Amino acid sequence: MKKIIPLLLLLSINITAQQNRFQLVEQHKIPDIPSSLYQQSNDLNNYDIHFYHLDLKATNTNTQLSGNVIIEATAVNKLTTFTCELMDYMTVSSIKINNQDATFTHSNNIIIAQCNKEYKPNENIKVQIFYSGNVVGEGYSYGTQLGISASWTLSESIHARDWFPCKQILTDKADSVFIDVTVPNNLTVASNGILKNIVNVNGNTKKYCWETKYPINYYLISMAISEYSQYNIYAEPQSISPEKILIQNFIFSNSGYLNQNKELIDKTKNLVEFFSEKIGIYPFYKEKYGNAMAYFGGGMEHQTMTTLANFGFSLNAHELAHQWFGNYVTCGSWQDIWINEGFASYCEYIALQHFYDQQTADGWMDSAHNYAKEKPNGSVYIPFEELTSENRIFDYQLSYKKGAVIIHTLRGLINNDDLFFEAIRNYLNTYKNNTAIGDDFFTSIGDFTSLDLTNFKNDWYYGKGFPTYEVIWKQEDNKLSITINQTTSSTSKPFFTQPIQIKLNYSDNSKTVVFEPTSTSTTLIFDTSTKINSIEIDPNNYILKGKTAITTDIISELNSETRIIHSPKKNSFELITTDKYLNNNFSINDIKGNIIKRFTIYDKHSEIDISNLKQGLYIISTKNRIIGKIVKL
Ligand SMILES: [Zn+2]
Repeated sequence: MKKIIPLLLLLSINITAQQNRFQLVEQHKIPDIPSSLYQQSNDLNNYDIHFYHLDLKATNTNTQLSGNVIIEATAVNKLTTFTCELMDYMTVSSIKINNQDATFTHSNNIIIAQCNKEYKPNENIKVQIFYSGNVVGEGYSYGTQLGISASWTLSESIHARDWFPCKQILTDKADSVFIDVTVPNNLTVASNGILKNIVNVNGNTKKYCWETKYPINYYLISMAISEYSQYNIYAEPQSISPEKILIQNFIFSNSGYLNQNKELIDKTKNLVEFFSEKIGIYPFYKEKYGNAMAYFGGGMEHQTMTTLANFGFSLNAHELAHQWFGNYVTCGSWQDIWINEGFASYCEYIALQHFYDQQTADGWMDSAHNYAKEKPNGSVYIPFEELTSENRIFDYQLSYKKGAVIIHTLRGLINNDDLFFEAIRNYLNTYKNNTAIGDDFFTSIGDFTSLDLTNFKNDWYYGKGFPTYEVIWKQEDNKLSITINQTTSSTSKPFFTQPIQIKLNYSDNSKTVVFEPTSTSTTLIFDTSTKINSIEIDPNNYILKGKTAITTDIISELNSETRIIHSPKKNSFELITTDKYLNNNFSINDIKGNIIKRFTIYDKHSEIDISNLKQGLYIISTKNRIIGKIVKL
C-alpha cells in the first residue's frame, strides 16, 4: 500500500501495506505468533484456512455491516474449539459448525466456538458466523466528495478483523474467497476476482457476487462500494497471446474523472504488459486486474482489485507491482514488509526508466536517497523491539524508500541487468502463492547468481544507516592509487563492505573499476599509464551514501619541464621545475584572469603557500605560459 507523500516531478501519489507473524529465521526472527502489535491466540495455528465466503449487506454512506461469513479449514491439530478473530464492537448472533448450532464466546476480539465433536488433524471443518455492527476501526471507512459517497475496506496490516471474522496470520493464505455484497440498486461493489453474478434482491437492492480462486492473504480481501462507472480495458502481454487480461476500473460515475484521466488510466494496460515482460506474467491473469476509486490518500493493492485515490503514474505502477510483490509473494512476517513495499517502490523506478527516461528515474532515486537519509539510524528490516506500531512497519523512509534503494544497490552489485531480472523472476516463481521473508529472498538471489549476499544483507537489510566516503586519489609513475576512507551514520554499523564502482575518466574515454573496501580505510593501487583526468564514485548512484569528498594529488604536466603537485585541501602546492625556471616570476590567476598572487622560485623543488587563497580553481603561469591548475577546497 502507499500513503500519500508528494513526489517530485510529474509523479503524483504513493502508499504502503503491512501485517503480523514471526518465524524463526537465524537470529533475526522471533518464533510463533506473539507480536508487539497485538497478542494473537496460539489456537489460530490449529487449523489451515482454505476458504472464506463473505455474504454481507452494506452501503456507501456508513460502515454498518450485517451478514455471515463461512470459513472452511482443515484441522492441523485436534480441534475441540474453533478460534478466529473479530473485533468486539461487532456483534455475533450465532455460529454454526458443520451446519449445527454451536455455543461460543466473543471477547478480547477473539471468537471461540465449541465444536460439536473433536476434529482430528486433516479433518475439514466448516464454520458459519452470523454477525452485524458498525465498524469503528480503520478496516472499513466511508467518505463523500462532489456528492458521491463511497465506502471501502483497507485491512492491512491487522484490520481484516475489524470487519469480518478471520485468521490474521500471514503465512496461511486462503485458497479461494467468495465475496457477496448486497447494496442499494444505485451502487456497485468492486472486489477480488471475477464478478460472477449480480442478483436482484427484493427489488431495491442488488447482490454482487465476486469469486477469486487464487490463494489470497486475509488482508488482501476487500470491497469498495460507490456509484461507479465501469471502464474496462485489456492488456495483451505477448507471453500469453492471444489471451488478454481484463483491466476492470471502477471510476466515480459523475465526477468527470474518467474523461479527464483516461490517458493515465489507459497506462495501466502498458504497465501490466511491461511488468509481465520484465518480472513474469501478471500472476492473476486468469481473473483480472482492477482498480476501484476511494477517498483516501494513496492506494492499497487488494488482490486483483486495487483501491486507490487516483491514477497517478507512480501510484498506479506501485499498486500494480504489489500484485507480484506482496500478493503473489507476500511477506511472511511484518518485520519483512520490505518483501512488499521495497519492491513495489522499486518498481516505480523501473517503470520510470522504461516509460519516461533515465533522467526522470534518476530524479526518483535521488529523492529516495534523500528520504532514506532522513533516518540515519534505521534499518529496512523491522527489528522485533521496534515492531510496536504500524507506523514503524510502514515507515516511508525505511520500508519504502531505503527498501527500494537497496534493491538498486543489489542490481548494481549483480551488475548484469538480464541476470538481475532473471533472478527476480526465479525468486517470484519459487515463492509464488506463498510467503517469503528477507532471508528467503537473499538465499534465492544468492543461489541463482552464485553471489554470497551475507555481507550485503547484513549491511543493507539488517544493518542500520549508510556510509559516507572520502576518496583520495593520485596518479604517478604509471600507478594510480585510490584510498577510500569510510565513516557511517550509525554507530551500530561501523563499516559497510559494499563494493563501490569507480569511474576513471581519461581524456577521450572512461573505464569503470570495482573497489572492494576491506576496512574503514582501504587503498588500492592500479597499474595505468594513461593519464586520468578525474574519477567518479558510484557513477550510477547504486549506493545510499553521505556526500562524497573526492580529492586528488593532481600532477600537472603541461610541459615536460614543470610539474605541480597539489591536494585541494592543502594550503600549499609543490612546483618542480628545471634550472631554466629558476629566478623566474610566476603568477596565480583566478579563472577570470585576475592575478591573485605572484612569486619567484629559487629552487627546482619549491613549496608555494596558498593559505590566503579562497576556495576555487586557479591557473599557474609564467612568462604568459600556463604551466598548471590547482583547485583549493
Ligand atoms: Zn505499497
